[in-house]
Amino acid sequence: MDLKAEFQRRVMAKRPELIALTQDLIRIPTLNPPGENYRKICEYLSARLKQTGFVVELIRAFDTPGDSEKYPRWNIVARCEGKYAGDCVHFNSHTDVVEIGKNWTFDPFGGVLKDDKIYGRGACDMKGGLATSIIAVETFLEVWPDFSGAIEISGTADEETGGFGGVAYLSEKGYFSPLKVQHVIIPEPLNKDRICLGHRGVFWAEIETHGRIAHGSMPFLGDCAVRHMGAVLSEMEHSLFPALAKKRTDMPVVPEGAKQSTMNINSFHGGQAIPEADFTGLPSAVVPDSAKMIIDRRFLLEENIDKVEAEIREVLEKVKSERPDFRYDMREIHRVIPTMTDRNAPIVTTVSKAINDVLGKSPQYVVSPGSYDQKHIDRIGRMKNCIAYGPGILDLAHQPDEYIKVSDMLDSAKVMGLTLAELLTGPSPQN
Ligand SMILES: [Zn+2]
Repeated sequence: MDLKAEFQRRVMAKRPELIALTQDLIRIPTLNPPGENYRKICEYLSARLKQTGFVVELIRAFDTPGDSEKYPRWNIVARCEGKYAGDCVHFNSHTDVVEIGKNWTFDPFGGVLKDDKIYGRGACDMKGGLATSIIAVETFLEVWPDFSGAIEISGTADEETGGFGGVAYLSEKGYFSPLKVQHVIIPEPLNKDRICLGHRGVFWAEIETHGRIAHGSMPFLGDCAVRHMGAVLSEMEHSLFPALAKKRTDMPVVPEGAKQSTMNINSFHGGQAIPEADFTGLPSAVVPDSAKMIIDRRFLLEENIDKVEAEIREVLEKVKSERPDFRYDMREIHRVIPTMTDRNAPIVTTVSKAINDVLGKSPQYVVSPGSYDQKHIDRIGRMKNCIAYGPGILDLAHQPDEYIKVSDMLDSAKVMGLTLAELLTGPSPQN
């Protein structure tokens, strides 16, 4: 019997089961922040995977950012041992979803199925991917019960807020060590025919300019922190932004606009706090003594993070040299080093072949403009053989009426299962 054909036939037969599983996951509202229902979704997954023959661990990331008795950071890691020794393939999905936002026409936690689409917050990012990997693995186990190696499935917390209570914590505890895990697939919604090799780097910082408070009718007696910050912005427009636009990368980043260095000014505030909406009074006349700005700089594999920081400091020092009394602080908030898996890594070549088999075309290799949990698997876990591959359209993530197509999930499940077949079966001891 052609086992690969049989596998694909069985995946198609599981369409109703895949829909039900995706709907169940969407109906557990794991909003983050604050980090709701992590325990509940872990217990749901635990019950399902135990039935499939997995050994399950629930792990709370104690004392990580956001972890509390009210909002504990629960994670699940499930492992199924094969009959013979071999590699371990790990599917990692985050269980958290972002806030709902406005303008939904479907119930965000209803999991409504209409035509080929399942709607809900997290449908594509990434409960659809999680459900897809479970169906792929369960079908694989039916067709190849005597496989070699091991399969792991994890559901982890907090990816949307940095992953510290999820993959970072598990990496520190050795769950992604190359001794334990040899291949990682993160089923983020990158489209069923694309392999995501990694992501750009991140440097977030808060810049504060200082002034001196005085009566607003006599600003010359004070020193306006907002005008100082205005000078910083002006210098950024003049020198920094044009310089960033010139830094191009060889990384295959999509969309095209992200194939260069970028910087977002995340927020900007100076002077008095903005009053509550129901406050009807006037502001008081004061010269602001502080202005703050948060910058979000995304950098490339070709860049060095120390230089990224130095470049911003140069802007500040230039302004300082031109403005008397200019004083500032810069405080780093967050950093992520860029990562990109080699195109010849085993997980890349294997998934590529499976995409060819299922979809009849070669995959597109991409790099994500924003970072995701691969950063922790690479930096802390020291596991390099890792990609993001999963169904769904990235642009729909975090949007109203987010959805996932059932047909895309089925195709991706086939790709995932054939990948397992390639890595965990073959001419080894069985038969
Ligand atoms: Zn995601």
